[in-house]
Amino acid sequence: MPLYSHSRLGTYENCPFQYKLRYVNKVKPLLGNSIESFMGSMVHDSLEWLYKLAQDSNVVSKETLLEKYDKLWNENWTDTIRVVKKDLTADNFKETGQTCLEMYYDRYHPFDQSITIGLEERMMIELPENKKMQGYIDRLDKIGDGHFAVHDYKTSNRVPPQSKADKDRQLGLYALAVHQRYPEVKKIDLIWHYVRFDEEVCSSRDQKQLDSMISSTVSLIKEVEAATERKDFPTKTSMLCNWCEFKAQCPEYSHQYASQNDAPTLSTTTITALQAAETVDKLIELKEKKKNLSSDMDAMMETLESQLFNYSKESGHTVVFGKDYKASFNTSESVKIPSKKDLKRYELESSLKELELWDDVQEMSVWKVKSMLKSDNWSEEQKEKISNFLDKSENPRISLKKL
Ligand code: SF4
Repeated sequence: MPLYSHSRLGTYENCPFQYKLRYVNKVKPLLGNSIESFMGSMVHDSLEWLYKLAQDSNVVSKETLLEKYDKLWNENWTDTIRVVKKDLTADNFKETGQTCLEMYYDRYHPFDQSITIGLEERMMIELPENKKMQGYIDRLDKIGDGHFAVHDYKTSNRVPPQSKADKDRQLGLYALAVHQRYPEVKKIDLIWHYVRFDEEVCSSRDQKQLDSMISSTVSLIKEVEAATERKDFPTKTSMLCNWCEFKAQCPEYSHQYASQNDAPTLSTTTITALQAAETVDKLIELKEKKKNLSSDMDAMMETLESQLFNYSKESGHTVVFGKDYKASFNTSESVKIPSKKDLKRYELESSLKELELWDDVQEMSVWKVKSMLKSDNWSEEQKEKISNFLDKSENPRISLKKL
């Protein structure tokens, strides 16, 4: 039975394919860590070091803390760490980390607000249906008799609203873990330190909130287990892909990396990655040409048609003969049904029903059947019965989008 964690479940929620590579196949990512995550780790490690010494009554100076941060940064730095944001450099991030620590130090020195009982404390969480989770609390403090505080450091560049903090799963799970480890607990403060902004966000959980979090977490674990059973881990692209360490191994982006290095053609491919990239460029060039040509031709045809219409009107000839074709002229009336957004549409529908003409104009909408088959409005049994009448085929389609 795998041991879950908040970040493991978060990975599945963000992208099941990344989950598969990281946790099921245990593949090593080809791309390096992001600078945001590296800077976050260095700030965390520095604060852990600071509190570890403070636990033994050794409160270091701010300068010593910054020296430690600098040392940790240099010792752990590797050139594979990626700076994704175009206008920023690694030095910018290093400086941001320093500022975070300086502000934190000034605010909490001499770090004796409460008694630290755990740093990077591993907590086990027992859930119903024999599910188990683990988590590491950045800092666990004891404030008084049965009163605990869970501290979490965040270096992200956004402070979430209180409503989001009140629903946060990670610290909710830690609250549950504290409850399970210390039965005497009376109160648990959940505190996030948004160190970039010198901001504290505080929350707590009552039993009802804990119960609801437990049930949604168990449901999510079951969903992950069902996906694992089915081996069903689709890719889920989003902004987060830019920071994903598996980007070069993901079918959504791997060609980009293969074509950059012009990787050798696999035995099953007829063209190389570079040739495939050139083919996309050629295809889009032809599509553009076709579009321009077609709009030029539409304009030319419109001019010719208008010349012929005028000629027919002026000459009284209702048919004009070419070499192999003849052109006839007539004007027909077009009928437009009001759109769905137009109130008149509903009035029209009511009148058709009132006049008992509705059945004459009703017919099955192909689009509606397809969308109902995808929705949750029809039961699986209903879907299966309807699907029996449908012919399914695979239609290969290339969609071209601007990068
Ligand atoms: S690049 Fe995006 S879609 Fe691919 S694995 Fe990473 S997060 Fe998922």
